[in-house]
Amino acid sequence: EIPAIASPARTRAIMEAYGLTFKKSLGQNFLTDINILNKIVAAAEVTPEDDVIEIGPGIGALTEQLAKKAHQVLALEIDTRLLPVLAETLAPYDNVQVVHQDVLQADLKALIAKYFDGKHNLKIVANLPYYITTPIILHLLETKIDFERIVVMMQKEVADRLAATPGTKDYGSLSVAVQYEMAAKVAFIVPKTVFIPQPKVDSAIIVLEKKQVKENEPLDEAFFNKMVKGIFLHRRKSLWNNLQGFYGKTPAIKEKLAHALGKAQIEPGIRAEKLSIAQMVALADALVSEKI
Ligand code: SAM
Repeated sequence: EIPAIASPARTRAIMEAYGLTFKKSLGQNFLTDINILNKIVAAAEVTPEDDVIEIGPGIGALTEQLAKKAHQVLALEIDTRLLPVLAETLAPYDNVQVVHQDVLQADLKALIAKYFDGKHNLKIVANLPYYITTPIILHLLETKIDFERIVVMMQKEVADRLAATPGTKDYGSLSVAVQYEMAAKVAFIVPKTVFIPQPKVDSAIIVLEKKQVKENEPLDEAFFNKMVKGIFLHRRKSLWNNLQGFYGKTPAIKEKLAHALGKAQIEPGIRAEKLSIAQMVALADALVSEKI
């Protein structure tokens, strides 16, 4: 049995052996607790049926645990200093590929075609670099790749927004963007103490699961996404005021807005945060048919 990469002592020893410091600017807070790693892999339900993409392997602590369960693991790391480290720490695992990539620039479709056989489920499992959590989530959704599960660690505060339900203070355009495609839930909270160095904020593991049946498919997805951002611009204002602020206040536009709200059976005085995704889709579709 090879000793796990994830322990405070081994993490410090590896960094020292390579003369490396943790780069704050790259969100380098490494996990050093094997129990937390096992819980992450369990939440992702990783099996030999799965090909897994990991974002930001660091020195390979999570990568190693994924390699033990998955068919193939592809890890994208931006920091060139870590590549020789990963070559050494992951040498015992022949089902791992590490590529030097900025995840936000990466062509994930091309990487998947190159490294995976197309016969396995696709999952994303990662301890995300926190300075770009939201861009990464939006980037993953934009690829339109059918990830069966996305299980990622992030700031607790962002996780709460992703999983928020209508009527709560955390519910916003990010909740809608995610939950439109995937069911979201916070699996568990992770204390700061299991990282080196310790981050300033608490962390949480979020599980995003592909919705098998999309209940709500807008006529025009780009229009829908813009409208959602528009109606959440001023959270304290009513839907009616936000719609006018976003689309305009001329009598002609007001009439179209009023028509659309009527058609979607939505009270103009309500706040966006009270609307379900289905109601937002109904409103977007009504606005599209009003040719606003
Ligand atoms: N997976 C390791 C762990 O759990 O210990 C490290 C996680 S650490 C929070 C985030 C990792 O993402 C770092 O290794 C960092 O270098 C890498 N990273 C930062 N920005 C990135 C980017 N744009 N693309 C790919 N990796 C990135």
